[in-house]
Amino acid sequence: MDLREKCAYCGDMTDMPFECNYCKDPFCSEHRLPEEHRCVKLTSIRAARFGQRKIIRDDDPNKPGFFKKIFGKFKG
Ligand SMILES: [Zn+2]
Ligand SMILES: [Zn+2]
Repeated sequence: MDLREKCAYCGDMTDMPFECNYCKDPFCSEHRLPEEHRCVKLTSIRAARFGQRKIIRDDDPNKPGFFKKIFGKFKG
């Protein structure tokens, strides 16, 4: 049986994936913290905290694709 999961951030296979409390995606031990995998939820939490005065530009090639739909919500 293979219970390994792919880290949603770096793509590494890990025997004991950590599930993010915020986005529920599996991550390796290196990227399990929201800050380490640029958690989509963390971004929205921070945006709310800063009064949405500025959203970080979505120009990071390492950023997972699912970031786009979150950023779309802030447009306009
Ligand atoms: Zn990772
Ligand atoms: Zn997360």
